[in-house]
Amino acid sequence: MDDARTLLESLPLDLQAQVQRSVPLNSLTTLQVGGPAALLCPVFNPEHALRFQALALDRQIPFFILGGGSNVLADDRGFRGLILHVSTENLDRKGDTVRAGAGLSFDGLIERTLGLGLTGLEFASGIPGTLGGALVGNAGCYGHEIGEFLVEALLLRPDGRLETVGPEEFGFRYRETDLRETGTVVLEAVLRLQRGDVDQAMNLRHERILDRRTKHPVDQPSAGSWFRNLAAAEPGERRQAAGVLLEQAGAKDMSEGKARVFAKHANMIINTGGATSADVLKLAARMKFAVQEKFGVHLVEEVRYLEP
Ligand SMILES: Cc1cc2nc3c(=O)[nH]c(=O)nc-3n(C[C@H](O)[C@H](O)[C@H](O)COP(=O)(O)OP(=O)(O)OC[C@H]3O[C@@H](n4cnc5c(N)ncnc54)[C@H](O)[C@@H]3O)c2cc1C
Repeated sequence: MDDARTLLESLPLDLQAQVQRSVPLNSLTTLQVGGPAALLCPVFNPEHALRFQALALDRQIPFFILGGGSNVLADDRGFRGLILHVSTENLDRKGDTVRAGAGLSFDGLIERTLGLGLTGLEFASGIPGTLGGALVGNAGCYGHEIGEFLVEALLLRPDGRLETVGPEEFGFRYRETDLRETGTVVLEAVLRLQRGDVDQAMNLRHERILDRRTKHPVDQPSAGSWFRNLAAAEPGERRQAAGVLLEQAGAKDMSEGKARVFAKHANMIINTGGATSADVLKLAARMKFAVQEKFGVHLVEEVRYLEP
């Protein structure tokens, strides 16, 4: 933490004013677990991103890109580096497309584009997090994914280049892209939508939000599905839900400390109040082991563990 103070004091004054020291990660992640991040750097525009990234590279400080923190488990010991908190929130419409800051809430963007008379994203209503997080993880549900809508994106590459790229650079696939965990920051994106039937889209939006309320722990701290669904048994078939295997392996009865498996969805871990990262990691390991033992299936984590 002393290093963090020295570093902060050595920053130009305009940056010093924006950076926060020792920010608890439990306040920045939806699972509400995690100790302090040494430095939190809000990225409101590409220039901020460039300057903070250059600082991290120059001083050889580890950095982590954070959006809404809805797919991350932070460690109780915190993070000794610099958190680039993507907070670009611009939104401009041009015809059937929107240019949107990656720090916009994804669900807020869905609501705002519908307000602009543009449909398409309503299928994803209720997915927590930011547009940037949705893009690098190719967030989706009900058979659709955000990647289907991307025209281009503004990226900050790990070598300090700002670059506009098309969807091919993302390599969109199931809950994954080539950009996740590479140190590339998604700053903004252009999405192609449609001038469709807004009332119908609104109805679908409300239906999806209600559906989530019945199936997901929307009022309790969680990080969404812990493990990825399995590949389909046959091409063209649906993926096998990891939650079904977890349920059959008895996961719904599992808990560790203050972390427990959500009663209505065996692939979700909830923090019942004061759970530690150790509780959560232990519980996730037990869930994984139970499925391995019962079915010989190796589950792969979807949630990103941020090591100290
Ligand atoms: C109750 C609940 C329900 C959920 N339902 C769904 C669902 O139906 N479908 C689904 O796909 N997901 C779902 N999720 C998971 C999560 O909401 C998504 O993965 C979401 O898109 C993550 O976005 P985020 O901004 O919170 O990313 P974060 O959690 O902040 O980060 C996730 C990863 O993305 C990287 N990242 C974030 N922003 C950027 C950026 N701008 N540039 C580069 N890298 C970045 C981070 O480094 C990290 O590796 C759910 C989560 C919860 C809590």
